[in-house]
Amino acid sequence: MNPFLLRHVVFPLYHNITGTGVIKCLQELKRSQWLPREKIIAIQRERLRVLLHHAYENVTFYRKRFKGVSIRAADLDDPSIISSIPLLTKKEINENRDSMIERNKAGGRLIPNSTSGSTGEALYFFTDMRSLACRRAVVIRNQEWIGVKLGDRRVSLWGAAMDIEKLQNVRGRIHRWFNNYIILSSYELSPRSLKEYVDRLNHFKPVLLISYPGPLTELAEFMVENGLRVPSIRAIISSAETLYPWQKEISEQAFSCPVYNRYGCREFGDIAHECEHREGLHINVDRVFLEILDDELHPCEPGRPGEIVITDLDNYGMPFIRYRIGDRGTLYNRACSCGRGLPLLEGIEGRTLDVVRAPNGNALGGTFWTLLFRSKPGIKTFQVIQEDMRGIAVLYVHDTSVHDVPLDYFKKKIRGKCGENFKVDFQEVKQIKKTTSGKTRFVISKLRKISRMTE
Ligand SMILES: [Zn+2]
Repeated sequence: MNPFLLRHVVFPLYHNITGTGVIKCLQELKRSQWLPREKIIAIQRERLRVLLHHAYENVTFYRKRFKGVSIRAADLDDPSIISSIPLLTKKEINENRDSMIERNKAGGRLIPNSTSGSTGEALYFFTDMRSLACRRAVVIRNQEWIGVKLGDRRVSLWGAAMDIEKLQNVRGRIHRWFNNYIILSSYELSPRSLKEYVDRLNHFKPVLLISYPGPLTELAEFMVENGLRVPSIRAIISSAETLYPWQKEISEQAFSCPVYNRYGCREFGDIAHECEHREGLHINVDRVFLEILDDELHPCEPGRPGEIVITDLDNYGMPFIRYRIGDRGTLYNRACSCGRGLPLLEGIEGRTLDVVRAPNGNALGGTFWTLLFRSKPGIKTFQVIQEDMRGIAVLYVHDTSVHDVPLDYFKKKIRGKCGENFKVDFQEVKQIKKTTSGKTRFVISKLRKISRMTE
């Protein structure tokens, strides 16, 4: 669709008629970003206060939780009360899902959502319509920072199978067409697929490319090695994993445009995003309350890394208050030269997901493995280790509620992607060792970097 038509006619018409609230939210977000920092923080605190009262009044889980630590309704007006509220874990959400849903449905219809569980445990939760509208709006705002306008053509090189599946059905196709959006699977990265991707990109002419650093780097290296270009792309967003400087460099060389960092997740949408100045990631504090805590759970000073804990200020349908997202980050104590009042996050640690490489050229990242081993019961947790190109070892913890682990089924699925002769060695273990930041690394690759053209 013509981007101009989409931006000025179809988008406003659709959202005004259906009353999604995206336009109103976008107007507010565009205004609030330029307020002085103290003003933005004051707005955030007020929104947090209202959310806490809402949770106390309407959500059984939080009423109990607050009472459990002797918090009364009147105490919620004191901003410092937040530090007395216990942190919320994925496990608790999965165990208390029903009692975490508000009784009055003030936020509108609830939409089921889930994470693939790249940090160990899958999470099933609900997002209300108002919150979805605000997420949509904040994405539009954040992308405007990097010169991408609403309606501009976008492409994702993405591996979340649920996103890809959703976009393949009729509704998904219509959605993509209406939004000038295509998605390319980051599981298929053989030289042949990469060449096809470049051709598709040059046909579709996207302005923005969104990807994980791993697949992005693969594509960029392939383009540089083969002298290929995609001139339409003016900005790249790297998300979900750590972007190393060498990856940024090769990607910028291949596409001749800047790579911007985004920190987001399925639970909250965009949490923080780099602006055109790239001096840190602006935290969307008008949508989330983000804390960084030390090992004793006290707030970290700017410059000191700690655990990230997030409260969603919009999702009244199923409030997430002080959620342990499983990442570590550091606050910046300075203003960005763009002039926006939104505070800065220096960086995110601990989101590295390695890939498994197969002789047929496929590269399979963390989500492929987490989704595969969740597709049938039997495996509690796992770790894939690749020493060489011939195969992998899969360490796994047996879920004893299931008698037989369907290892042959998993093997067949893996060989379907990696080739019939790919060696798959399953080893049952008592537990999987965690990283220093407490995360399970699902994929550990010990391969050296391989030039794609020598395969
Ligand atoms: Zn800025």
